[in-house]
Amino acid sequence: MRIDVFTIFPGLVDGFCSESLLGKCRTNGLLDLRCHDLREHTTDVHRTIDDSPFGGGAGMVMRADPIFASVEAANSPRPLFLLGPAGRRFDQQLANELAACGGFSLLCGRYEGIDHRVREHLVDDELSIGDVVLSGGEVAACLVIEAVARLLPGAMGNEASPITESFGASGLLEEPQFTRPNEFRGWVVPEVLRSGDHARVARWRHAQALHRTLRYRPDLIERRDGLSDDDRRLLEEFPPTAYP
Ligand code: SAM
Repeated sequence: MRIDVFTIFPGLVDGFCSESLLGKCRTNGLLDLRCHDLREHTTDVHRTIDDSPFGGGAGMVMRADPIFASVEAANSPRPLFLLGPAGRRFDQQLANELAACGGFSLLCGRYEGIDHRVREHLVDDELSIGDVVLSGGEVAACLVIEAVARLLPGAMGNEASPITESFGASGLLEEPQFTRPNEFRGWVVPEVLRSGDHARVARWRHAQALHRTLRYRPDLIERRDGLSDDDRRLLEEFPPTAYP
């Protein structure tokens, strides 16, 4: 998959995306990430990318001309998303859609934002990572890239992970996980997980996922049309862990 990023800090994105799973995706050819420095398309000796806002006000605004020039020179994959607080909320469903789309591009703002003609006439859509204001779009771009790239076939060791983890096929949060040692500071791993009874383990896991989702994200239960009779039976059979 090709992903192009337009930014005044290409090193921020390139550095983050060179480590761990993303670094491996790039090395083994699953991810073709290209970071474009918007300043390469400025025309003055100071490589000025911003200017004061028309109408006055605090801060600076990124100019449209170097952004148009950079995007037009790159022949980058569409859709091109501007990252910004006004955008469509990025979530797991959108990550799944983007992982299947072959390629896309991201444009990172800085300062007070970007000349609105970029939003109106250059980009295809705008993505927000949540109701919070960042200083720039680079962290948001890294978040989108990581969420999408890990879904590419072959990216993760365990192909079942995106199905069984939070927001996966069940639409629930994932259940609590435990590993060795069995006893740590007097806290013991739930007996069922050590029982070797795979069917019981599966039922326990589903029950814990339900408990956790009911407690922290009841909206997700509503979205899957509430609890089924089987869900209710499981909730009664397996009480929640001490801190779901
Ligand atoms: N003045 C803008 C406003 O009030 O909506 C905020 C600009 S912010 C300081 C600078 C840049 O950070 C934005 O152009 C955008 O690219 C990025 N950014 C900030 N918050 C973001 C968010 N929640 N999601 C995605 N990108 C964000």
